[in-house]
Amino acid sequence: MEKASFVTFSKNVFIPVTNICRNRCGYCGFRREPGQPGARLMKPAEVISILKNGVRAGCTEVLFTFGEYAEEMPGYNLMLDEIGYSSTLDYLLFLCETAIETGILPHTNAGVMTRSELEALKPLNASMGLMLESTASLEAHKDCPGKIPERRLETIREAGKLQIPYTSGLLIGIGESREDRIESLEAITSLHREYGHIQEVIIQNFAPKPGTPMESFPEPTVEEMMDAVVLARHVLPSDVSVQVAPNLIDPKALIGKGVTDLGGISPLTIDWINPEAEWPDVRDLQKKLGDIPLRERLPVYPQYVKRGWYSERIGSLIERLSDNEGYRKQPAIENAEDLEK
Ligand code: SF4
Repeated sequence: MEKASFVTFSKNVFIPVTNICRNRCGYCGFRREPGQPGARLMKPAEVISILKNGVRAGCTEVLFTFGEYAEEMPGYNLMLDEIGYSSTLDYLLFLCETAIETGILPHTNAGVMTRSELEALKPLNASMGLMLESTASLEAHKDCPGKIPERRLETIREAGKLQIPYTSGLLIGIGESREDRIESLEAITSLHREYGHIQEVIIQNFAPKPGTPMESFPEPTVEEMMDAVVLARHVLPSDVSVQVAPNLIDPKALIGKGVTDLGGISPLTIDWINPEAEWPDVRDLQKKLGDIPLRERLPVYPQYVKRGWYSERIGSLIERLSDNEGYRKQPAIENAEDLEK
């Protein structure tokens, strides 16, 4: 395989708006129910403070994550009520508006969604995402109405119809077979061929969390991850980026196998889904990658910036933050050069 001429990433803040979730994934250490220790719905002031700090630190992306359809959990509506909202969607719309006004681009990942929810969020998001995880029906997803593969594919399809630049991905090592991985990649490919909206596919390694039903489940080996990346690069169209998370796995060898993106890296906030795994410092990461330059992008990939797949509402911010190729103005290559000084 040809060596990547550069590898992209985005500088983000990670905001876990709520960890209340209707699903019960066997590997999840994030989810809580109302009333449990650690259950939370972030208050507007908490979010706004992170947004402001993110802009000051030069971040261009705010990743809003949620447990899925928290409203189905008894007690959650009271939590919403306390902050003055009657639905998660209304609260999220407010947060997206506030992010844009603050100068940072929203990327929402809130689980499966209906067409009307996607439609409401589209003008206020630079891109959106939903991990397919797998097309297989797995024990890890029992008791998870939102993890029915058809339901997830339907959300990704609706996002395509609405021309939303989109992120999806596979979770590797949760009980799926190699054939399941190929089928999952083919399913994403087929939606991309129809709608052209998949900008990246994350190949994420399962990392066991203490206290979860899958705490003793074996992690995928590096060889398995390499194979999954090779499969992804082989099956996915060449305009879809393959991403791994550099806080979960050493990306260097995987870049040689076809990885072209390292996702959101935050200088400020932790990975709330994998809190044990610290983000690398971008300069340290660049040193580690040696002659493979890192290049900063926005949450919307350059090809969609060029195609104008964004609303008027966020257009001026995207135009201000992007260079004439559609990447982040002041690309990280310059920062890499700074390292030498
Ligand atoms: S992984 Fe996501 S969908 Fe599954 S239980 Fe955790 S928060 Fe909910």
